[in-house]
Amino acid sequence: MASSIVLFGPPGAGKGTQAGNIVSITGKPQVSTGDMLRAAVSAGTELGVEAKGYMDSGQLVPDEVIIGLIEERLTQSDAVNGVLFDGFPRTVAQAEALSHIAEVSIVIAIEVPDARIVERICGRYTCGGCGAVYHDTFNPTTNPGVCDHCGHTDMKRRADDNEGTVRNRLEAYHAQTSPLAAWYRKRDLFSAVNGDQGIDLVGEEIAALL
Ligand code: ADP
Ligand code: ADP
Ligand code: ZN
Repeated sequence: MASSIVLFGPPGAGKGTQAGNIVSITGKPQVSTGDMLRAAVSAGTELGVEAKGYMDSGQLVPDEVIIGLIEERLTQSDAVNGVLFDGFPRTVAQAEALSHIAEVSIVIAIEVPDARIVERICGRYTCGGCGAVYHDTFNPTTNPGVCDHCGHTDMKRRADDNEGTVRNRLEAYHAQTSPLAAWYRKRDLFSAVNGDQGIDLVGEEIAALL
Protein backbone atom coordinates (compact mmCIF):
# COMPACT_ATOMS: atom_id res chain seq x y z
CA MET A 1 0.00 0.00 0.00
CA ALA A 2 1.87 3.04 -1.25
CA SER A 3 -0.21 5.65 0.51
CA SER A 4 1.14 8.26 2.88
CA ILE A 5 -0.15 9.70 6.15
CA VAL A 6 -0.12 13.39 7.07
CA LEU A 7 0.25 14.40 10.72
CA PHE A 8 -1.25 17.87 11.02
CA GLY A 9 -1.55 20.41 13.81
CA PRO A 10 -0.19 23.62 15.31
CA PRO A 11 3.41 23.90 16.53
CA GLY A 12 3.74 21.97 19.78
CA ALA A 13 0.59 19.90 19.23
CA GLY A 14 2.47 16.65 19.79
CA LYS A 15 3.17 15.56 16.19
CA GLY A 16 6.77 14.51 16.85
CA THR A 17 5.75 12.83 20.11
CA GLN A 18 3.10 10.69 18.39
CA ALA A 19 5.12 9.97 15.25
CA GLY A 20 7.15 7.10 16.75
CA ASN A 21 4.01 5.17 17.59
CA ILE A 22 2.58 5.62 14.10
CA VAL A 23 5.88 4.51 12.57
CA SER A 24 5.82 1.30 14.64
CA ILE A 25 2.20 0.58 13.73
CA THR A 26 2.47 1.32 9.99
CA GLY A 27 6.15 0.76 9.19
CA LYS A 28 6.17 4.01 7.22
CA PRO A 29 9.22 6.23 7.81
CA GLN A 30 8.73 9.63 9.44
CA VAL A 31 9.45 12.57 7.16
CA SER A 32 9.71 15.77 9.22
CA THR A 33 10.45 18.90 7.22
CA GLY A 34 11.41 20.66 10.48
CA ASP A 35 14.06 17.99 11.22
CA MET A 36 15.31 18.09 7.63
CA LEU A 37 15.62 21.88 7.75
CA ARG A 38 17.44 21.80 11.12
CA ALA A 39 19.86 19.22 9.69
CA ALA A 40 20.52 21.54 6.74
CA VAL A 41 21.07 24.49 9.09
CA SER A 42 23.60 22.54 11.21
CA ALA A 43 25.37 21.27 8.12
CA GLY A 44 25.58 24.84 6.83
CA THR A 45 24.28 23.95 3.37
CA GLU A 46 23.05 26.68 1.02
CA LEU A 47 19.48 25.59 1.72
CA GLY A 48 20.14 25.71 5.47
CA VAL A 49 21.52 29.24 5.24
CA GLU A 50 18.43 30.35 3.31
CA ALA A 51 16.00 28.65 5.70
CA LYS A 52 17.57 29.77 8.97
CA GLY A 53 16.27 33.35 8.97
CA TYR A 54 12.69 32.22 8.44
CA MET A 55 12.93 29.55 11.14
CA ASP A 56 14.53 31.85 13.71
CA SER A 57 11.74 34.39 13.28
CA GLY A 58 8.95 31.80 13.24
CA GLN A 59 7.90 32.31 9.62
CA LEU A 60 7.32 29.55 7.11
CA VAL A 61 10.17 28.68 4.77
CA PRO A 62 9.16 29.40 1.12
CA ASP A 63 7.10 26.69 -0.58
CA GLU A 64 9.61 26.07 -3.42
CA VAL A 65 12.32 25.19 -0.92
CA ILE A 66 10.08 22.79 0.99
CA ILE A 67 8.63 21.15 -2.12
CA GLY A 68 12.15 20.60 -3.47
CA LEU A 69 13.18 18.90 -0.23
CA ILE A 70 10.15 16.61 -0.27
CA GLU A 71 10.54 15.69 -3.95
CA GLU A 72 14.10 14.62 -3.25
CA ARG A 73 13.17 12.72 -0.06
CA LEU A 74 10.44 10.74 -1.85
CA THR A 75 12.96 9.36 -4.36
CA GLN A 76 14.72 7.44 -1.56
CA SER A 77 14.05 3.72 -1.47
CA ASP A 78 12.42 3.63 1.99
CA ALA A 79 9.63 5.88 0.71
CA VAL A 80 8.24 3.43 -1.86
CA ASN A 81 5.40 2.27 0.41
CA GLY A 82 4.47 5.77 1.50
CA VAL A 83 5.69 7.86 4.44
CA LEU A 84 4.45 9.64 7.54
CA PHE A 85 4.62 13.38 6.87
CA ASP A 86 5.18 15.37 10.07
CA GLY A 87 4.86 19.14 9.71
CA PHE A 88 4.24 18.97 5.96
CA PRO A 89 2.24 20.20 4.07
CA ARG A 90 1.80 23.55 5.81
CA THR A 91 0.25 25.59 2.99
CA VAL A 92 -2.37 24.87 0.35
CA ALA A 93 0.37 25.27 -2.30
CA GLN A 94 2.40 22.52 -0.60
CA ALA A 95 -0.66 20.24 -0.47
CA GLU A 96 -1.35 20.86 -4.17
CA ALA A 97 2.24 20.01 -5.03
CA LEU A 98 2.12 16.90 -2.84
CA SER A 99 -1.05 15.70 -4.55
CA HIS A 100 0.93 15.39 -7.80
CA ILE A 101 3.73 13.26 -6.34
CA ALA A 102 2.20 11.09 -3.59
CA GLU A 103 -1.11 9.59 -2.55
CA VAL A 104 -2.36 10.65 0.89
CA SER A 105 -4.77 8.20 2.56
CA ILE A 106 -5.46 10.12 5.79
CA VAL A 107 -4.69 13.45 7.46
CA ILE A 108 -4.59 13.12 11.24
CA ALA A 109 -5.04 16.50 12.92
CA ILE A 110 -3.96 16.84 16.55
CA GLU A 111 -6.15 19.62 17.95
CA VAL A 112 -4.78 21.71 20.84
CA PRO A 113 -6.05 25.14 21.90
CA ASP A 114 -3.64 28.08 21.47
CA ALA A 115 -3.61 28.65 25.24
CA ARG A 116 -1.74 25.35 25.71
CA ILE A 117 0.83 25.85 22.97
CA VAL A 118 3.22 28.27 24.65
CA GLU A 119 3.66 26.11 27.77
CA ARG A 120 4.20 23.04 25.63
CA ILE A 121 6.82 24.60 23.39
CA CYS A 122 8.68 26.52 26.09
CA GLY A 123 9.14 23.30 28.13
CA ARG A 124 10.24 21.13 25.20
CA TYR A 125 13.66 19.46 25.00
CA THR A 126 14.90 16.63 22.79
CA CYS A 127 17.57 13.97 23.03
CA GLY A 128 20.62 14.77 20.90
CA GLY A 129 21.23 11.03 20.46
CA CYS A 130 17.90 9.66 19.24
CA GLY A 131 15.60 12.69 18.88
CA ALA A 132 13.13 11.58 21.59
CA VAL A 133 10.91 14.49 22.66
CA TYR A 134 10.51 15.43 26.33
CA HIS A 135 8.85 18.16 28.40
CA ASP A 136 10.00 19.76 31.68
CA THR A 137 6.62 19.14 33.32
CA PHE A 138 4.45 16.94 31.10
CA ASN A 139 6.94 14.31 29.97
CA PRO A 140 10.31 14.51 31.75
CA THR A 141 13.05 11.89 31.48
CA THR A 142 12.96 9.37 34.35
CA ASN A 143 16.49 10.34 35.41
CA PRO A 144 17.17 14.06 34.97
CA GLY A 145 19.23 14.70 31.83
CA VAL A 146 19.40 11.03 30.75
CA CYS A 147 17.40 9.82 27.74
CA ASP A 148 14.99 6.97 28.65
CA HIS A 149 15.34 5.50 25.16
CA CYS A 150 19.05 5.60 24.38
CA GLY A 151 20.85 6.76 27.53
CA HIS A 152 22.43 9.86 25.93
CA THR A 153 22.97 12.84 28.18
CA ASP A 154 23.04 15.70 25.67
CA MET A 155 19.57 17.19 25.82
CA LYS A 156 18.86 20.00 23.37
CA ARG A 157 16.51 22.97 23.28
CA ARG A 158 15.57 24.55 19.97
CA ALA A 159 16.57 28.16 19.31
CA ASP A 160 13.04 28.92 18.06
CA ASP A 161 11.32 27.48 21.15
CA ASN A 162 10.89 30.81 22.91
CA GLU A 163 7.74 32.76 23.65
CA GLY A 164 8.31 35.53 21.09
CA THR A 165 8.89 33.15 18.19
CA VAL A 166 6.04 30.90 19.25
CA ARG A 167 3.58 33.78 18.79
CA ASN A 168 4.78 34.22 15.19
CA ARG A 169 4.63 30.48 14.55
CA LEU A 170 1.05 30.37 15.82
CA GLU A 171 0.14 33.34 13.66
CA ALA A 172 1.67 31.63 10.62
CA TYR A 173 -0.26 28.48 11.53
CA HIS A 174 -3.61 30.26 11.66
CA ALA A 175 -3.02 32.36 8.54
CA GLN A 176 -1.29 29.86 6.25
CA THR A 177 -1.69 26.30 7.58
CA SER A 178 -5.14 26.00 9.15
CA PRO A 179 -6.91 26.63 5.77
CA LEU A 180 -5.56 23.22 4.80
CA ALA A 181 -8.04 21.58 7.16
CA ALA A 182 -10.94 22.60 4.88
CA TRP A 183 -8.91 21.64 1.80
CA TYR A 184 -8.44 18.07 3.09
CA ARG A 185 -11.97 17.87 4.55
CA LYS A 186 -13.36 18.57 1.10
CA ARG A 187 -11.36 15.58 -0.17
CA ASP A 188 -12.66 13.41 2.71
CA LEU A 189 -9.21 12.79 4.11
CA PHE A 190 -9.38 14.75 7.37
CA SER A 191 -9.68 13.16 10.85
CA ALA A 192 -9.23 15.11 14.08
CA VAL A 193 -8.12 13.82 17.49
CA ASN A 194 -8.20 15.64 20.82
CA GLY A 195 -4.59 16.62 21.55
CA ASP A 196 -5.50 18.28 24.85
CA GLN A 197 -5.22 15.12 26.94
CA GLY A 198 -2.43 12.81 28.09
CA ILE A 199 0.13 11.55 25.54
CA ASP A 200 -1.08 7.93 25.84
CA LEU A 201 -4.73 8.88 25.28
CA VAL A 202 -3.83 10.90 22.18
CA GLY A 203 -1.89 7.85 20.96
CA GLU A 204 -4.91 5.59 21.47
CA GLU A 205 -7.19 7.92 19.47
CA ILE A 206 -4.66 7.98 16.66
CA ALA A 207 -4.13 4.21 16.69
CA ALA A 208 -7.89 3.74 16.33
CA LEU A 209 -7.74 5.64 13.02
CA LEU A 210 -4.97 3.53 11.50
P1 ADP B 1 5.14 19.14 17.52
O1 ADP B 1 5.98 18.09 16.84
O2 ADP B 1 3.71 19.10 17.07
O3 ADP B 1 5.73 20.51 17.43
P2 ADP B 1 6.02 17.87 20.03
O4 ADP B 1 5.69 16.44 19.84
O5 ADP B 1 7.44 18.28 19.91
O6 ADP B 1 5.08 18.78 19.07
O7 ADP B 1 5.45 18.30 21.47
C1 ADP B 1 5.65 19.62 21.98
C2 ADP B 1 5.93 19.55 23.49
O8 ADP B 1 4.73 19.14 24.18
C3 ADP B 1 6.99 18.51 23.89
O9 ADP B 1 7.74 19.03 24.96
C4 ADP B 1 6.18 17.28 24.30
O10 ADP B 1 6.86 16.52 25.30
C5 ADP B 1 4.93 17.92 24.88
N1 ADP B 1 3.70 17.10 24.63
C6 ADP B 1 3.41 16.38 23.52
N2 ADP B 1 2.18 15.81 23.63
C7 ADP B 1 1.69 16.20 24.85
C8 ADP B 1 0.46 15.95 25.56
N3 ADP B 1 -0.52 15.18 25.03
N4 ADP B 1 0.30 16.54 26.77
C9 ADP B 1 1.28 17.33 27.30
N5 ADP B 1 2.46 17.60 26.69
C10 ADP B 1 2.66 17.05 25.47
P1 ADP C 1 6.88 22.92 15.10
O1 ADP C 1 5.89 21.91 14.62
O2 ADP C 1 7.27 22.75 16.51
O3 ADP C 1 6.51 24.33 14.74
P2 ADP C 1 8.84 22.21 12.99
O4 ADP C 1 10.06 21.52 13.42
O5 ADP C 1 7.82 21.44 12.24
O6 ADP C 1 8.25 22.80 14.34
O7 ADP C 1 9.19 23.51 12.16
C1 ADP C 1 10.16 24.44 12.58
C2 ADP C 1 10.26 25.56 11.54
O8 ADP C 1 10.70 25.02 10.29
C3 ADP C 1 8.95 26.27 11.22
O9 ADP C 1 8.69 27.34 12.12
C4 ADP C 1 9.23 26.77 9.80
O10 ADP C 1 10.05 27.92 9.81
C5 ADP C 1 10.03 25.63 9.20
N1 ADP C 1 9.19 24.61 8.54
C6 ADP C 1 9.07 23.29 8.89
N2 ADP C 1 8.26 22.64 8.05
C7 ADP C 1 7.83 23.58 7.14
C8 ADP C 1 6.94 23.54 6.02
N3 ADP C 1 6.31 22.39 5.65
N4 ADP C 1 6.75 24.69 5.33
C9 ADP C 1 7.37 25.82 5.67
N5 ADP C 1 8.20 25.94 6.71
C10 ADP C 1 8.45 24.82 7.44
ZN1 ZN D 1 17.79 9.34 23.23
